Amino acid sequence: MTDRPAVLVTGGAGYIGSHAVLALKDAGWKVAVIDNLSTGFAWALPEDVPLYEGDIADTKLLARIFAEQSIGAIMHFAGSIVVPESVENPLKYYDNNTGKSRSLIAAAVAAGIPHFIFSSTAATYGTPDARLMSEDTPTVPINPYGWSKLMTERMLADAAAAHGFNFCVLRYFNVAGADPQARTGQSTEGATHLIKVACEAATGKRASVGIFGNDFDTQDGTGVRDYIHVSDLANAHLLALEALVAQPSRSLTMNCGYGRGFSVREVLDAVDRVTNHTIKRVQMPRRAGDPAELVADSSRLREVTGWQPAHDDLDTIIAHALQWERKLCAR
Ligand code: UDP
Repeated sequence: MTDRPAVLVTGGAGYIGSHAVLALKDAGWKVAVIDNLSTGFAWALPEDVPLYEGDIADTKLLARIFAEQSIGAIMHFAGSIVVPESVENPLKYYDNNTGKSRSLIAAAVAAGIPHFIFSSTAATYGTPDARLMSEDTPTVPINPYGWSKLMTERMLADAAAAHGFNFCVLRYFNVAGADPQARTGQSTEGATHLIKVACEAATGKRASVGIFGNDFDTQDGTGVRDYIHVSDLANAHLLALEALVAQPSRSLTMNCGYGRGFSVREVLDAVDRVTNHTIKRVQMPRRAGDPAELVADSSRLREVTGWQPAHDDLDTIIAHALQWERKLCAR
């Protein structure tokens, strides 16, 4: 059996990061977290996981964590994730997602950390011609969010070649849902992502859901996305880490999605079905930076790591998201 390094999870108190922490712990890995708590919550973490409150650009703090926790791998989730905000405030994205990642990579190189997993995004592909995106689809982002992540992918590839660590870039499609046991979920205020917004409408936190655009070149004119359950995504990180540890000379870039898309209308129909209630829909103009359709070819992830999703079902994703939303309401 390969040695299991202790894992530093950046952004581990956030939505996807906290699910990765649970998955790592459930599988017996040693975990520590760095999070500045700008959008994350200390309560999202199990009590026995050390939380360092601070910034990933704080090189001194990182050096201390690496030493105190004997860190042997990094999972880097910390960053900003809202496409329209990146259009309005691009420099925030180049700072949080690109500049601070550079700083983190430099600290990891200085400490000789051998493995690095990076949260990237389908937004790196822009508006591809192909219906399904493979990792070889050209990356031509159409918004600053996608560029800010793609630049970090490039830095990782160059730094890994120069300094001898291996890395895995995971390009997420649309992450949704929550831990089936409702231990964590998406908790940040001011949600913009469709399933979270729809769950807020279903629990009475907002009056309606806007549909952004009805004239895309898709089956019903609304945007099509590949929604992946956050626990399946967290599991993909575990398998990616095992692959990096098993073959230290190999780096990987892998899409994370199920390989089928749902339109905004189909998602809202599913929410109505799961709740047995009709959410009010309001037609709105297109949102800046939104491509028509993003669907993953995830065959590489399946073939290289043996990943098999456990929750590939839109109604299940929505049911788990709703379960978490109701728990938040009761807090
Ligand atoms: N969307 C929508 N109403 C909302 C939020 C999102 O119609 O309140 C649409 C959005 O235009 C896109 C899809 O839902 O077609 C997914 O958007 P989201 O913000 O969830 O994720 P993104 O794909 O932008 O990362």
